[in-house]
Formats: sequence, structure tokens, C-alpha cells
Amino acid sequence: MSSEVVDTNPYSRLMALQRMGIVDNYQRIRDYSIAIVGIGGVGSVAAEMLTRCGIGRLLLYDYDTVELANMNRLFFRPEQVGLTKTDAAVQTLSDINPDVVLESYTLNITTVKGFETFMESLTKKDFGLSDNGSGVDLVLSCVDNYEARMVVNQACNELNQIWMESGVSEDAVSGHIQLLIPGETACFACAPPLVVASGVDERTLKREGVCAASLPTTMGIVAGLLVQNALKFLLNFGQASKYLGYNALKDYFPTMDLRPNPQCSNSVCLERQKEYIKMKPVRDVAAKAKMEAEASNSEEASLHADNEWSISVIDDCNLDNTITGRDSESLPEGLARELPDADDLQRPQTTEDTVAFTGDLEDLQKQLDALNAA
Ligand SMILES: [Zn+2]
Repeated sequence: MSSEVVDTNPYSRLMALQRMGIVDNYQRIRDYSIAIVGIGGVGSVAAEMLTRCGIGRLLLYDYDTVELANMNRLFFRPEQVGLTKTDAAVQTLSDINPDVVLESYTLNITTVKGFETFMESLTKKDFGLSDNGSGVDLVLSCVDNYEARMVVNQACNELNQIWMESGVSEDAVSGHIQLLIPGETACFACAPPLVVASGVDERTLKREGVCAASLPTTMGIVAGLLVQNALKFLLNFGQASKYLGYNALKDYFPTMDLRPNPQCSNSVCLERQKEYIKMKPVRDVAAKAKMEAEASNSEEASLHADNEWSISVIDDCNLDNTITGRDSESLPEGLARELPDADDLQRPQTTEDTVAFTGDLEDLQKQLDALNAA
């Protein structure tokens, strides 16, 4: 990746991030693999952004084909109608940046076969070596339904895979992104997922004949927030958000931390939580060493001693809210529950269409089939 400042270098403006001191080593992006699940209004735009940023490898998952009804969103073009979304995406993205290794997976991760292929592809280690020792560095969930998110959650908990979730409400005027680190932050089953200013149960959205609204603006904004968070997380600059909401009607962006729920219904999540607690002494030593290194660095070179432009930075640490899966009754202003509490799904069945997730994939599949049949 050249940092030469010439009009013919596609990476010159990205490498400038390094010159300006924002990113220590931008070139590292060439070593990273990202899986994007769901190549719709958010996923396709996220894929294009990462491709233009020079990501090393992208794995794309979707079972759908491009339709004219998708043209209100960005990325896909009318002449691609009928192609699978993953194949159409590979076509466009390889034209934009042939340096990116692209893999197209036309499959439904909520089927048994699809889930197997999904898991296999995430652990394939033929591209470099990811930081976590698995096949990919990050999974981005850009799916539009509850069941698929639960499946991504299950896969990532089992693989101890860090992932980011994204969502846009069915009325197209709010959305969110969320960082999920197994054992460290809430998993998707830990805490009731939230979306700004929406009180609708997502599981009711995909009914036959019900047409959800969508705006290219909201989808583009959420894709931008998602990829920004992914870049910050992978290239280690700024502060990656654990949860960031977006309310378009009020231009309100709430943030909060979501801690794991010790009573999570997902058994693998509980295992990951135990592992995380066990590793605390190791983390403490590493954190101390890092602090000491930073302290000696700042003594050596007192950067930006003179503030030429009188720029001041506001400390925004206090803007964050921290809640756990259990004490989330009191949500920050403007937040409403989108989905039922994970525990609600475990309570005894009261109606025919209520399901109980046990975390076991076979059961999960049966329950998904039952939901789809309902
Ligand atoms: Zn959990």
C-alpha cells in the first residue's frame, strides 16, 4: 500500500491518516478479513466502504436476489436485478478495488446446511492470520430479522468471535450499531436489544404482505457508523462504541455500555463470561504495562505542546451510560425496547407461537422452522 501522494494512487488519502497521526499503521487493513452477513441496504454499503478502504478480504453472505424494490437504497443497480446479491456485490466491488479478496456465499444461515457452511467459512485460515487465531477478524451482522441475528450470535459465541450488530427500524427513521465481544459485553441473547424510538417486536415484522419502509439516508448513515466503528476497532484509533443508537427524527445519538447477563439464556455465552473473568489477572498486567509504556512515551516526546489553533477537546466520558441486561429497566432518554427480553423467550409457552430458545442449535433450528411455518 503506497503512501505516495499522486493522483494515480488509490490509497494516498487513506495513508494520509497515518501522516496526520490518526492511525499508527493504516497498512494493517490489508491483513484483515471481515465477514458481512446480509448484503442489503446496510451490508452492501458497508462492503463498498470497506472495499474502498482497502480491506484485505471480504466474505459476503446472503440468500436473496437483487430486485427493483431495492433501488431506493444505495449500491445495487437496475441491470443487476435477478442476480444473487452476493454475486452482484462481488461484480461491483472487484471493479472498484481489485486488491480486495472477495468471497461470495449465497446461502441462508438460518438453515442447518447454511449454518454449517457459515461456520466452516469463518474458521478457514487460508488468508493471513487473524489476531484471534480464527479465520476472520470481525463479523458484521447486517441482517433484517431477529432469527438471523440469533444465529449470528450463536455462531460468534461458539467461535469466540468478536462481531458487530446493526439494525434499522421498520419505519426507517432510527437504527443502531452494537459491538459484541463474547464474555466481555452483552451477547444478543443477554440483553433486550434496543432501538431508538421504536416499541415494535421485530419478530412480527417479516409477515407476508407487510412492507417495511426504508430510506437510503438512514441505511447509509447506519452503514457509515458501523464501518467507522469497525475501522476504529481494527486499526486501533479513537474509541469504538459498545452501543450507538440513531434517531433520525431528533438527530439523537445515544451511547451506552452493555454488560453480559449472568443469567443469559445462551449457555455458550455463560462459558465465555466465565473465561473472561478467569483472564482478569492477565488483562490487569497487560493494562499496567501499556500504561507504563504510554507514560514513558509522553515523557520522551511532549507532542502538541503549543496549541496553534486554540482547539479544545470536550471530555465526553460522562455522556456514556452503562447498563446490564438485568438493570436495563431504566433506559436512557429516547430509547425504547424493540424486542422482548431474552428471558421472556424462556418462560413457559403461553400461546402456540411463543418459542423458547435454549441455545442448542438443533432446538434453535426446530424453533426457527416452527416460526417460519406460523
Ligand atoms: Zn449472552
